[in-house]
Amino acid sequence: MLDWDTLEQECLSCGKCGLCQTRHHVVFGVGPRDADVMFIGEGPGEQEDLQGEPFVGPAGKLLDDMLSIIDLSRENCYIANIVKCRPPKNRDPLETEQEACIPYLRNQVALVQPKIIVCLGRVAALKLLNPNFRITREHGIWTERNGVWMTATFHPSALLRDVTKRPEAFDDLLKIREKIREVHARI
Ligand code: URA
Ligand code: SF4
Repeated sequence: MLDWDTLEQECLSCGKCGLCQTRHHVVFGVGPRDADVMFIGEGPGEQEDLQGEPFVGPAGKLLDDMLSIIDLSRENCYIANIVKCRPPKNRDPLETEQEACIPYLRNQVALVQPKIIVCLGRVAALKLLNPNFRITREHGIWTERNGVWMTATFHPSALLRDVTKRPEAFDDLLKIREKIREVHARI
């Protein structure tokens, strides 16, 4: 396991998969490095690639609103992605790209030691929760793994495309809030 500075340096100059050729910025992650709650997206979009920060585009604005509903913000949770470089035209990251990149996220999780991890969308849920994960059926379900409580909800981009999913996403947020209380997570 690498320490924060070594990990970030290595990640920022990474050439382990083809996404390094088209990226403008590596999007390492943001938030307190001792946060009790982590949110994991899929990969940078256009704005994230240009600015080097996760969830700063339209989906990010919605994520900020979702967080504020349950008294969370960028000040009290750590936000990162499965892949740190933008897939061209926002296609899903390939399995090979995810495999190349996931050690960075695992190292981040090991350093943060969160009590709660929330996957945003199916790509993160497939990778972190279960390779057969069905977001429509299994969002909002919690499992404990190695002392960490994990769940998935809809990706904010999906909620921008399809507002009919928003009530279910709202229920998921309330459950996150409950879990925060239950495990005495600091926010
Ligand atoms: N979508 C993601 O999955 N992650 C980001 O950082 C931005 C959009
Ligand atoms: Fe490296 Fe991850 Fe970027 Fe691929 S996506 S180049 S593995 S940092």
